[in-house]
Amino acid sequence: MGESELVLDGLSVEEVMKLVGIKRGGRSAPIERARPLVAEAEGRGSVGEPASAGWREALRASGAAPEPSRARAPEPVRADDAPPPPNDEDAMLEAPVESAPVARPPRSAPFAEQVAAEPPGPAHGAPAPAGLVVGSAELAVIPGEIGAATDLAQLAALIQRCTRCDLHRTATNAVPGEGNPHAGFMCIGEAPGAQEDATGRPFFGQAGQLLTKILQAVNLSREEVFILNVLKHRPPGNRNPLPDEVNACRPYLVRQVELVAPKVILALGTFAAQSLLETKLSIGKLRGSVHRYHGIPVIVTYHPAALLRNPAWKRPTWEDVQLARRILDSASA
Ligand code: URA
Repeated sequence: MGESELVLDGLSVEEVMKLVGIKRGGRSAPIERARPLVAEAEGRGSVGEPASAGWREALRASGAAPEPSRARAPEPVRADDAPPPPNDEDAMLEAPVESAPVARPPRSAPFAEQVAAEPPGPAHGAPAPAGLVVGSAELAVIPGEIGAATDLAQLAALIQRCTRCDLHRTATNAVPGEGNPHAGFMCIGEAPGAQEDATGRPFFGQAGQLLTKILQAVNLSREEVFILNVLKHRPPGNRNPLPDEVNACRPYLVRQVELVAPKVILALGTFAAQSLLETKLSIGKLRGSVHRYHGIPVIVTYHPAALLRNPAWKRPTWEDVQLARRILDSASA
């Protein structure tokens, strides 16, 4: 089923069965909502259970889908299975390549299935300690037209014509960020890469596809969340952002956070985490705590591009994202 599985994973068993025109009954399989990951976040489910197990079971029981072991044409190699392009997201990887475990679900599988085989981390589900605090919970005073922007569209227009640092000279497009202007869940990455620069959209390349799956694994769509980067223009050749560039872009970031007012921020990767939290602590030290950025809880996790090269980090990422999801849920309750 390939990509359509990603769509179906967001639906209930009832909705999937209706969609494929199958009546329930006959060889009845256990029918349940295809959202056990939420149950898990609430302490009701089992760790790593794939969200899609319900509808897959139901389809198999109805005879509309083959058993997993039945002969099936081998899946073509997908873009996700190919090594990342050398000059794009490689520059953002945070660790040397490690050899992948042998028996692992393909990278095209839903994220929860990919991590199901990994051993759980020691602190899974435990309350997270408080971490660093940056900025006050009061509105930040942002000078000039950035602070005066009253909505994200106005801010995006300012970003489009920004000349606060030199990156606009080499970039093709500014990448202000996108998503639900009232999102409870915000993802902050490092800086646009080649694909983002070409399209003007954040997390549009391979890492972006993985981010979409990570979000789906906690029942969030890209449209529900707000995705942005610390830098709004691509550094040439994906070099690391310079401190002056981060400082020049910071007022946009602060104003975006203020305007969206998310319930939780997921900082993706070392660079985003360190810039946001104004620290040089390693990602290993920053993970697992609930930091605060202008009063908003911040969870730090690995960058999706790093996960493409180091699948062993999928399990800890999965735990971080579930922690962020629990914070969202408890803030919305
Ligand atoms: N990596 C990032 O940090 N941001 C993007 O938008 C794309 C890749």
